[in-house]
Amino acid sequence: MSNLLKGVPASPGIAIAKAYRLEPDESVPQRKAVEDSAAEKQRLKEAVEAAKTDIDRIREQTLERLGPQKAEIFEAHLFLLDDPDLIDAAMDQIDSEGVNAEYALYEVASGIMEALRSMDNEMLRERAADVKDITGRVISKLEGREHSALSELSEETILVAKDLTPSDTAQLNLEFVRGFVTEIGSRTSHSAIMARSLELAAVVGIGNKTSEIRTGDTIILDATQGEVIVNPSNDQLEEYSLRKREYEEHKIRMRSYVERPSVTADGVQVELASNIGGIDDLEKVLANGADAIGLFRTEFLYMGRSAFPSEEEQFTVYKHVLEKMKGKRVVIRTLDIGGDKELSYLQLPKEMNPFLGLRAIRLCLDREELFRTQLRALLRASVHGKLAIMFPMIAVLSELREAKRILEEERVQLEQEGIAVSDTLEVGIMIEIPAAALAADILAKEVDFFSIGTNDLIQYTMAADRMNELVSYLYQPHHPSILRLVQLVIQAAERHGKWAGMCGEMAGDSAAIPLLLGLGLHEFSMSASSVLPARELVSRLSKHEWSGLAEQALGMSSQQEVLDFVNQQLRSEA
Ligand code: PEP
Ligand code: MG
Repeated sequence: MSNLLKGVPASPGIAIAKAYRLEPDESVPQRKAVEDSAAEKQRLKEAVEAAKTDIDRIREQTLERLGPQKAEIFEAHLFLLDDPDLIDAAMDQIDSEGVNAEYALYEVASGIMEALRSMDNEMLRERAADVKDITGRVISKLEGREHSALSELSEETILVAKDLTPSDTAQLNLEFVRGFVTEIGSRTSHSAIMARSLELAAVVGIGNKTSEIRTGDTIILDATQGEVIVNPSNDQLEEYSLRKREYEEHKIRMRSYVERPSVTADGVQVELASNIGGIDDLEKVLANGADAIGLFRTEFLYMGRSAFPSEEEQFTVYKHVLEKMKGKRVVIRTLDIGGDKELSYLQLPKEMNPFLGLRAIRLCLDREELFRTQLRALLRASVHGKLAIMFPMIAVLSELREAKRILEEERVQLEQEGIAVSDTLEVGIMIEIPAAALAADILAKEVDFFSIGTNDLIQYTMAADRMNELVSYLYQPHHPSILRLVQLVIQAAERHGKWAGMCGEMAGDSAAIPLLLGLGLHEFSMSASSVLPARELVSRLSKHEWSGLAEQALGMSSQQEVLDFVNQQLRSEA
């Protein structure tokens, strides 16, 4: 089957739709001499008007679908098309140099973009992207081509791209986008995590084979298997339409677990929680009956904007989440920026190895004001529900102590201001660095809980970049080395009377859940769509039996051996 491409299944689902390639338009218009410059200027004028009509339509659609904030960008685009420095200057160039409109506009816009990019001001630098976008739109009109933009999709589409940044993913038009395929990335890259929270089918890391897909090709995306089929035959279409129906039926069957408790076959209660990236994910968390929120990745509040969110803005979001969860625990992680997550308005030094650099808690301790604002917002929100604050990427005890000291200072300050703070607030850390896992017994004394971040813990244990598909085979959650670290963390928590959870992707993996249960994990936090299948699975498992089986797995020699063992056990129990 030569039209079958294989990648990493990043977010389950099956979609059949037209492909849409998302690629930056880097073409340069050709310079041509024109005789009749008046006619050429008229052509430019008409193209600008046509572009304005398009932008206005998109602005209205965006306003309706996504609200005024997202629509603002298109107002700025309309404004730019009236800017004399751009269009008038291009008109002048047509006159003075006798060149074609495409070329004149491109030249003028390039000069403006270069000037903007060299500015000190971040906001102005970002305007360069807007100038590029509108210029591309007008040039497409002049060349009689359709200008491609995500916001203009009007039919069911599967996006094909080199990669999608977290903010690209956050802005996808869910009315038409049915899934995406990327050239790079892995199961734990942030675009994959976003896809799961949006419940969008996604296959990532298919390598440069994405070049075999053209816009308009029909593709089948079977993200349950990591398969992409380009221009399928009728037989393939029939087979996958059936699989799609079966998959959807399975999802419906799972719905009967929404109201059920998360209890094992031998009566042990666990907590099946959900990860969120913002308030938009809450609906799915509630619809899937999650017992708690085990990870709120707050960095998404800071992304896709031009300045830091204020204390008030953050407070409103945290309060909203806590209230919606009605007394169920909400673990909110403090800012985890760095690595593959950047903020355009935060100038960070260029690092050779960003994943090993000034990331997460390291950055927050370095930029204390940033951290304090977030902590104040969290402390103020704490009285509106059951809040747990979690610090990411703790490597050593001194970082935890420093973070707690700052938190305490902010709590005292708020009290002096007469602002109430909950006295049941929990404070915990993520275990994502092998050093922290190995020293979990030391850290356990000074926290209320641990949450194991396996996405990073595996990356750092295996020394394999989670974004690099060339080493994605080393993402081995079932490897005994990882299971042993997980066991150390759970045992350390137990010994000190603290709870241990997991919020990395491993927590929602049906072949890992039995082992984690057996090792004594209390809380499993996953994408909302995994909660019901996990609850159904847990209801069939005996914790007692799996604690013996997990011990056996720890002594095995490879991930494959462990996987075969788990699958065989699950089959024999079915
Ligand atoms: C993790 O590392 O497992 C985790 C949950 O954090 P993130 O994926 O946001 O880095
Ligand atoms: Mg992490």
